[in-house]
Amino acid sequence: MRAVAAVARAAGAPLVLEEIELDDPRDDEILVAIAACGVCHTDAKARDGYGGVRFPVVLGHEGAGTVVEVGSSVRSLVPGDRVLLVSDFCGRCPRCRAGDTAYCDEGPLRTFGAVRPDGTSRARRGDEAIRASFFGQSAFATHALASERNALKVAPYADLSLLAATTCGMVTGAGAVLDVLTVTPGTRLAVLGAGTVGLAAVMAAAAAGAEAVVAVDRIPSRLDLARRLGATDVVDTGRHGDLATALLERTGGCDAVLDTTGIGRLQQAAVEALAVRGTLGIVGGGDGDGVVLARLMTGGKSVRGIIQGDATGTLGLEALLRLHAAGRFPFEALVRTYPFAAVNEAIGDGLAGTTVKAVLTF
Ligand SMILES: [Zn+2]
Ligand SMILES: [Zn+2]
Repeated sequence: MRAVAAVARAAGAPLVLEEIELDDPRDDEILVAIAACGVCHTDAKARDGYGGVRFPVVLGHEGAGTVVEVGSSVRSLVPGDRVLLVSDFCGRCPRCRAGDTAYCDEGPLRTFGAVRPDGTSRARRGDEAIRASFFGQSAFATHALASERNALKVAPYADLSLLAATTCGMVTGAGAVLDVLTVTPGTRLAVLGAGTVGLAAVMAAAAAGAEAVVAVDRIPSRLDLARRLGATDVVDTGRHGDLATALLERTGGCDAVLDTTGIGRLQQAAVEALAVRGTLGIVGGGDGDGVVLARLMTGGKSVRGIIQGDATGTLGLEALLRLHAAGRFPFEALVRTYPFAAVNEAIGDGLAGTTVKAVLTF
């Protein structure tokens, strides 16, 4: 199967549109014609070599499209079905059997490794193997191989260019708030970073009736958006040097803080701003300096790492789509679409903060 893919060839280099040859689907695989793919901060980090990613590789892990072919053991999908693709997992290891598919033993291989579990690549260009299983999909391409495990069937009339925005970062932010930090009416929550994950957390916390939802960012337009989506207060870190004090003034102590930035000094301020028995949730891949752990003890505080909002398979995405259908998760406000050929511009705008959630359309 010939496909056009945006191939990452070296750390930090722009992606290059190339024709590649995709394998025929194996027994447990499905071939999907991609209609749209969200752009996640993780794609930008992987392009720059984060996560032990190896090149050449096709990135993209928020694919949406139409099934065109299925392997012989696939039971739940047929050609013509429209699907959203999530992160892949094995379905057999102890973590998966407990429902913790986000922490699958084979996770590193099936996500950043971008090869099948047996080590083979799903694509090639001439004699050169191309890694095309990034998060079990590699959807920065006109066609992608996935499996029925990591595909969620949606309605024939679903707007794929919109729903492609939801499958990773939004599930992460909403799941962290609803299922891990268990925000309920009365909870005082702060969210560090008002990108896709942070704004999804804000929307979910508002939907859950949180007493206070304080959004923290350094880009004023994102803070305005956070207010429109349900934040009760904001902190502009460009204007407030002391984040811990600013959060304490607004909340009297946070029951929970969700950090989407991975920035150590912000995490440290978050620990200071936690109420007794409060929890700091961390979903941003850290770049360095980290939390001073000793400060946790005296307050009986917790730090919890969270992947994919703790979602089990496609269940977190299904819950999010129900919330959206009920009008309680208005993520449309975050999305800007770009043609596939503008993939490098879409990644750049996301990094610059001028676009919150870019979606490529094919
Ligand atoms: Zn992602
Ligand atoms: Zn597993």
